[in-house]
Amino acid sequence: MWWKEPVTSLKGIGPKKAADLAELNIYTLGDLLCYYPRQEAYIDYSKLKTIRELDVDGSKQIFTATVFRIRDSFQGRGRKFTVVTVRDETGYADLYFFMNQRYMAKKLKIDERLMITGRVKQGRSAKMVSEVFYQTAESADALTGIWPVYSLSGALTQKNMRQWIKDAIKRAEQDLPESLPDYVINECNFTDRLTALQNIHFPHDWNSLKQAQRRFIFEELFLLQCGLLYYRQSNESAKVGIKHSRDGKILQQLIDQLPFKLTAEQQKAWQEISLDMQDIKPMHRILQGDVGSGKTVISALALAKAVENGFQGCMMAPTEILAVQHYKTLKEYFEPLGIRIGILTGSLKAKARRELLEALAVGTVDVVVGTHALLQEDVVFQKLSVVITDEQHRFGVGQRAALANKGQDAPDVLVMTATPIPRTLALTVYGDLEVSLIKSRPPGRRKIQTLCYTEEKRLEVYAGLRRQVQKGRQAYVVCPLIQDSESIGVRSAENVYQELNQGILRDVRCALLHGKLKDSEKNVIMTAFAAGEIDVLISTTVIEVGVNVPNAVLMVIENAERFGLAQLHQLRGRVGRGSEQSYCVLLTGADNPETLKRLQVLHDSDDGFYLAEQDLLLRGAGQLFGLRQHGLPDLRIADIIRDTEVIISARKFAHRLVLQNNNWELLRELIDRQFDNRFQMIFNS
Ligand code: ADP
Ligand code: MG
Repeated sequence: MWWKEPVTSLKGIGPKKAADLAELNIYTLGDLLCYYPRQEAYIDYSKLKTIRELDVDGSKQIFTATVFRIRDSFQGRGRKFTVVTVRDETGYADLYFFMNQRYMAKKLKIDERLMITGRVKQGRSAKMVSEVFYQTAESADALTGIWPVYSLSGALTQKNMRQWIKDAIKRAEQDLPESLPDYVINECNFTDRLTALQNIHFPHDWNSLKQAQRRFIFEELFLLQCGLLYYRQSNESAKVGIKHSRDGKILQQLIDQLPFKLTAEQQKAWQEISLDMQDIKPMHRILQGDVGSGKTVISALALAKAVENGFQGCMMAPTEILAVQHYKTLKEYFEPLGIRIGILTGSLKAKARRELLEALAVGTVDVVVGTHALLQEDVVFQKLSVVITDEQHRFGVGQRAALANKGQDAPDVLVMTATPIPRTLALTVYGDLEVSLIKSRPPGRRKIQTLCYTEEKRLEVYAGLRRQVQKGRQAYVVCPLIQDSESIGVRSAENVYQELNQGILRDVRCALLHGKLKDSEKNVIMTAFAAGEIDVLISTTVIEVGVNVPNAVLMVIENAERFGLAQLHQLRGRVGRGSEQSYCVLLTGADNPETLKRLQVLHDSDDGFYLAEQDLLLRGAGQLFGLRQHGLPDLRIADIIRDTEVIISARKFAHRLVLQNNNWELLRELIDRQFDNRFQMIFNS
């Protein structure tokens, strides 16, 4: 198969160029073909203008000119930028290169002729061009029509890439297998794969480009969905689900003995879960609820239902601290009912671990709570029927599958999360998961007061902190970084700890907590804080998940502008867990109105879902919703947020294909190739 041949089989690619290509993850001819041009950057050479003809309306335009002068300038705060003045027979224009684009200006020489694209506005003396992209004119002179622009690495040039991809397309013209089933192509009205490939790299016109992009965006999402379905299915295929009976005596007892009444939303969520568990089909459900909305008790019900039916249940948490906390809560619920519960974490001693594993294997322990340690191979259950993960985007698709795999039959799976996830991402990352939602918090909670101050108020804030401690309360101080010098102008946890511990909090029990400590050290500190032996915990965001210390009523967040709204909201959720009025103080050194406006949103709302939405609007999707966080491959051309509609349609087609269950082998090869065997790694590790 020619597409598996290495790129070096093309003329002009030796070891050096091949190394540059490898940096872009291009190894084979197939990779090269699928290396799509940057979506917004195609150049239309038929629209070539002179400098005088350039419109100053901020739109992207293209022109040729020669380099006249190059100079560096300063913006406030020592930030440099470079201005390259170019000219043609009709006038002058200034090209602006900021920050990390400045290296592009450095390569230029006076009198060099360039083909330039960029956004054009009216500057003070000349037309001003930003978002500049250029190439030398001799490589561009011969061009007409629409041309692709590729992301490059090393010494590669646009001309290189265009030539090699042209050569690869020539090979494809002789023999290129279709990657989508016929009926999909027909129903969606897609162009065939070869034409689409030609058009995405070298489009004749804008419309054929759009059609090609439409096809490949769909293809990528379709293969992603197929991959998820296929690997999930082959993981579970031989197994049948487990049927639990209707809620019985133990569950009733558990509910009766709770110190509170379940809210309507909790009841609804429980009903949905309970019904799922009664079905033979394995449950795949996500329980979304803001911090403190009362998800843990729901998980207790699910675990109890498993035990009531003679099965075992397990619950996995992302950190040891959180696992211990769940263990304690569940133990209180379960002990009166005679449900036996164990905990499995990395710090468990060898002997205790051996005993627990034995008990799990013979069924003398009913429920186990733990960390990733649960995933180890020698953890075997006698009859596992429900698997719960409590997570904040911290487990990957494969880890969940590995845990579910520990049942002889396919267990019911419940995922609990406090982070609102857009529906399309949930569909993609969690596959078939149904969603249960707890939107409001249990009644009787006092609203946390959120205050936003600039730096000058710091001493007053610390004085308030001291007063709370004198009243017998506890507090958190959260900093964005562990150590100084990681970034200027940001207060580090170590620094703040020194300052407080030797200064205003001299006579107060302070402790420093951060991610570089060993797990065992973190545990000691957290346990002491929970027991009231430490008054003020100075910490990085490691306390984000899980800790429940009702006596902690104040949280001070340093450099609050450094955090996302959703994250600040999660942090804030660590206070306000008791009956006292709690406070969250956001300190910020930033004085720009944008930042203050953003923090104000947090003052105004304590709705985690609303805040996550605002975060999206204000900060963009970006990293927040990267697939990689979930252990999935990154996408080349599709966009989880932008392509919502396509995801839904791709999913439908993928389901249909799975139902028909034909031709998996061909599809599998495509899936593995498209995603670089990531799925195999995810599911078989
Ligand atoms: P989550 O896991 O969703 O962040 P938790 O399950 O830890 O929230 O619940 C937070 C607190 O609310 C716990 O102390 C729990 O006992 C309490 N709680 C849960 N449900 C109710 C309820 N219906 N009424 C009153 N308090 C509740
Ligand atoms: Mg919780």
